[in-house]
Amino acid sequence: MPQPAFGVQAFRLFLEMDDSSALLGRNASSDSCTENLIKKPLGLRSCLLVFRTLEYIASPKVQLIRERSFFYMSKSVPITVAHGDGIGPEIMAATLHILKEAGANLEIETIDIGEKVYLAGNTSGIEPSSWDSLRRTKVFLKAPITTPQGGGFKSLNVTVRKTLGLFANIRPCVSYHPFVDTKHPVMDIVIVRENEEDLYAGIEHRQTEQVMQCLKLISRPGSEKIVRHAFEYAVRNNRKKVTCFTKDNIMKLTDGLFHKVFDEIAAEYPNIENEHWIVDIGAAKMADTPEVFDVIVMPNLYGDVLSDVAAQIAGSVGLAGSANIGEHVSMFEAIHGSAPRRAGQNLANPSGLLLGAVMMLVHIGETAVAERVHNAWLRTIEDGIHTYDIYEEGKSKQKVGTKEFAAAVVQRLGQTPQTLKVVKYKSADEAASKIPAAAPAIPRAKKDLVGVDVFLDWTKGTANELGDALSKLNGDGTKLEMMSNRGVKVWPGGHAETFCSDHWRCRFLADTDGGGVSHPQIISLLKRFAAAGFDFIKTENLYNFDGERGYSLDQGA
Ligand code: NAD
Repeated sequence: MPQPAFGVQAFRLFLEMDDSSALLGRNASSDSCTENLIKKPLGLRSCLLVFRTLEYIASPKVQLIRERSFFYMSKSVPITVAHGDGIGPEIMAATLHILKEAGANLEIETIDIGEKVYLAGNTSGIEPSSWDSLRRTKVFLKAPITTPQGGGFKSLNVTVRKTLGLFANIRPCVSYHPFVDTKHPVMDIVIVRENEEDLYAGIEHRQTEQVMQCLKLISRPGSEKIVRHAFEYAVRNNRKKVTCFTKDNIMKLTDGLFHKVFDEIAAEYPNIENEHWIVDIGAAKMADTPEVFDVIVMPNLYGDVLSDVAAQIAGSVGLAGSANIGEHVSMFEAIHGSAPRRAGQNLANPSGLLLGAVMMLVHIGETAVAERVHNAWLRTIEDGIHTYDIYEEGKSKQKVGTKEFAAAVVQRLGQTPQTLKVVKYKSADEAASKIPAAAPAIPRAKKDLVGVDVFLDWTKGTANELGDALSKLNGDGTKLEMMSNRGVKVWPGGHAETFCSDHWRCRFLADTDGGGVSHPQIISLLKRFAAAGFDFIKTENLYNFDGERGYSLDQGA
C-alpha cells in the first residue's frame, strides 16, 4: 500500500475524532496507510486529517465496494454560531452534532441574537458585542429567529446583510424526487441574487401630493462582484451554465449595465455556458420548466421574488439552505423561520440549516466534510427517514424527530445516495486553478454635462400651458427641449389622452446643437424657475460619457 504522499514526518498526525476514528478503525484494512499514522491528541491547530469514505452498494453481501482516502491539511476554523429562537436551538444542536461527527474542524463562538435581545431593548436584535465575534471569525452560522410582534423592531437579516456588506444571496433550489413531493421532478437550480443594490438602496422620497419615488441604483462594481461570484460558484460546484435575468429592454441603463457586465464576465469563463433572458419570460420558464436552468444570477428585486418562487416550486422550502456572502463576512442559514408552534417538541426538520452549514463548509474550504455530510443527508432522505413535514405514508419509511433524523444522518456518514445525484465539491485550489485573472480596470470615461432635468410639482393647467410658461425661462445658454409626465412625453406634441399627474420632468439642454452646459448655467436656470414661482422638487444633471448618452429618452420621444 502506498504511503501518504507527504514528506514531512511531523505532519503525520492522526486527528482523533470520536466516532469518526471509530469508523476508520472499523473499516481500516491491515495494509491501510492510516496505520502508519501516529495517533496524537488534538492540540495543534494544524493536523493531517485522514478520511476514509466508504461507498456501499445495494448488495448486502458486498458492502465495501470502494475505498477512497482523502488527505489534506486542515486548520480549525473559527465560526460564530447563533442558536436563534423557536425551533432554532433544536435544529442548530442537530446540525452541529452532524458536523462534529463528520469531522468538521471548527472552533465555535456562540452569540445571542433574536427575540431575547429585541425584548431587552435592542431594536436590531443583535448585541453590539456580537459584531466583534462576526468580524473576528468572518463566518456566521445562524438559526432562524423570531421577530417580536409590534412595530419598532428592525429586521435582523437586513441589518446583518447591510452592515457586513453581504452582497450575494445564494439559494440552491433542488427537488428530491421521488423521495419528497415536488411539482418538478428534475429541478436543481441555484439562484444568485444581488443583495445590496437595485431598489433596495432604500432611497425613497415623497415628491408631490401624488407621487412617491424609489431610486433604482445599479453599479458596475456591484454588478461585477455578483456576476463573478455566480461564475465562481458554477466553477466550484461543477455547474455547467449561468443564466442572467434582467429587464434591460425597458431599463436600458440600469439593467442594461447588469447585462453588459454579465456578457463581459461570461467571456472569461469559456467552459461555462451562458445566456440571458428577459426576467418576465425567464421567470415563467423557470416556474414551468426549471430543468433548463442551472445557476441564475439577477439583480436584487427579481432575485428576492424568484428565489422564493424557486424554493416553493421545488417543493422543498423546509429543506433549503442559503448563503449570504460578503467580501469580509459570510452568513449561512435555513430559508425558513423559527416556526414557534413546533418549538421544543423534537419535531423540526434540521435539513435547511444543515444544507446551509454544508454551504458554509464549502466556503471555508472543508469541501471533503461538506461532501460527506451532504451525501449522507441525501442517503437519509432516500432511505425514507423523514421528519413530519415531509413524511408521507407509502413513500416515507420512518417518521422521526429532530434528534433521530440527525442520528440517521450520522449513521450514514461515508455513504452516498443511490438514486439522487452524488454531490462532489471542488476544493478551493482545484477551483482556483481554473479562474482567469480579473479583467483589467476600465479607464474612467470622459464626462460631459449637456443639460438638466428639472422636476416640478405643478397642477395649474395643461402640458401645453406649462410648456409655454417654461419656454419663457429659456436663455443663458439653455433651452427647454421636452417635458414628460411619469415618463411619457407630453410636450412638444403630446396627446390629449395621456393622463398627467402633478409630477413633471422638464428637460433643458444647451441652446446650441450638441453643446455643453455648465453648473453656473444650471444654477442660473433654477433661479429663473424660483423667480417665476415654480416648485422644483429635484434636478438630475444630464451627462454624456465618452460621447454616449447617459440618460434615458422618454416613451414617445
Ligand atoms: P416559518 O418558516 O417559521 O414557519 C411556517 C411553518 O412552516 C411552520 O408553522 C411549520 O409548520 C413549518 N416549518 C418551518 N420550518 C420548519 C422546519 N424546519 N421543520 C418543520 N416544519 C417547519 O414562518 P412564520 O411562521 O411565518 O414565521 C415565524 C417566525 O420566524 C416569525 O417571527 C418570523 O419573523 C421569523 N422568520 C425568521 C427568519 C429568519 O430568521 N431567517 C425567516 C423567516 C421568518
